[in-house]
Amino acid sequence: MIEYRNLRVALLGGGSVGAQVAALLLEHGDELANRSGAGLELVGVAVRDVEAERTPAIPGHLLTTDAESLILGSDIVVELMGGLEPARTYILQAINSGADVITANKALLATHGPELFDAAEQVGAQLYYEAAVGGAIPIIRPLRDSLAGDRVTRILGIVNGTTNFILDRMDVNGDTLEGALATATELGYAEADPTADIGGYDAAQKAAILASLAFHTTVPLESVYREGITEITAEQVDAARKAGYVVKLLAICERIEIERDGRRTGEFGVSARVHPALVPAAHPLAAVHGANNAVFVQAEAAGDLMFYGAGAGGLETASAVLGDLVSAARRHVIGGPGVAESTHANMAVLPISSVRTRYQITLKVVDQPGVLATIASLFSEHGVSVEAVSQSVSDGKNVELPTATLVIVTHEATEASLATTVAALGGNEVVSAVVSVLRVEGL
Ligand code: NAP
Repeated sequence: MIEYRNLRVALLGGGSVGAQVAALLLEHGDELANRSGAGLELVGVAVRDVEAERTPAIPGHLLTTDAESLILGSDIVVELMGGLEPARTYILQAINSGADVITANKALLATHGPELFDAAEQVGAQLYYEAAVGGAIPIIRPLRDSLAGDRVTRILGIVNGTTNFILDRMDVNGDTLEGALATATELGYAEADPTADIGGYDAAQKAAILASLAFHTTVPLESVYREGITEITAEQVDAARKAGYVVKLLAICERIEIERDGRRTGEFGVSARVHPALVPAAHPLAAVHGANNAVFVQAEAAGDLMFYGAGAGGLETASAVLGDLVSAARRHVIGGPGVAESTHANMAVLPISSVRTRYQITLKVVDQPGVLATIASLFSEHGVSVEAVSQSVSDGKNVELPTATLVIVTHEATEASLATTVAALGGNEVVSAVVSVLRVEGL
């Protein structure tokens, strides 16, 4: 039997993910040593309450509340506590004591990523975070390593399982948003306070991480445009299905050519946004059901790629953490500085007004001759070209002023021109209501 040198692994957190990581490390230690070229010795697990019951159980002698002592003298520190503090302080302590760090903490990376990556680079340590986006799905390493020789142009991601579960229930079962959320809570897919998920905050953190990595540019969380799913209605989902679309909450990261005075400049910027969007039923992302996640990547040479699987779950996420552990251990064995986070492209981070996409606008209009012509001219005056219009018959409720529903799909237009068009529509006397404006993605 080969004798490997031992690497000391400290685990910060023994919750849903941490307890699974501890169990797999203890169970599969020999196999992991063969793959890593080093023994991975779990030296302790820092928690808040050493008496609490854990699933799977963690041997009592490994549990401690003294995270700082555990960090000192460890070769690899795995942070699975979550939250900004004390996670940030502990990770900086670990880096400064010479350890490599593995984290699944998207909130921390999206907020303090540059500080942590700088600290790691200063001392030649590595910060691994495969589990921070898409749970079990390998997406960080493909973007960082496999696609390092290509140029990523666009990422469309379903990166929040809770909202995908809710929208999928609305689509497949015809549930209301409230009903689908209640089911998600019952089944443990939604937290007691679901704001981070349904408000799009969790997806925005992941968008910031993916955009920074894919475009070699620091994309701050504040610059990610964010809309959640709270305004999505059962009627919208139903109408989308009938028109051949599925409503999905997407995280969209794009490399965009900058325009000045309507002219292309040859310079590129980066945009990251999270919002509900209509996805054509034939697009691979439309087939992502339940709480699953998927990341659709477009690259200049590779073309279209899709990464799909479980976006959360203690055991599933532990798989990604252990993959990072093996990578970290291999680097310890081989030596060398490893790969620093790359921000060399340093492109401008663009506001949503620079984004070009297609839109579906649903209007309630006065049902009288000449209305279509008025609406069409409002679009063209604001530089938005209409691709298709469908009109439903007058709803017949108001005999004095009969109304009809118009669904208009546009060609690509900028957010800025769409916004002025919608404002003009809202102010026009033939329009009784702008019922909804949804972006159409994936065409
Ligand atoms: P969790 O179940 O809430 O576990 C957190 C653990 O950290 C608990 O063991 C807790 O101790 C410990 N802890 C919290 N604050 C601490 C402190 N100040 N000092 C010492 N220990 C502390 O969380 P989780 O679901 O495993 O998530 C961990 C990380 O993985 C988070 O960053 C999360 O975003 C990320 N992640 C989770 C999933 C998932 O499916 N769960 C998926 C992807 C990424 P006690 O047990 O004693 O309270």
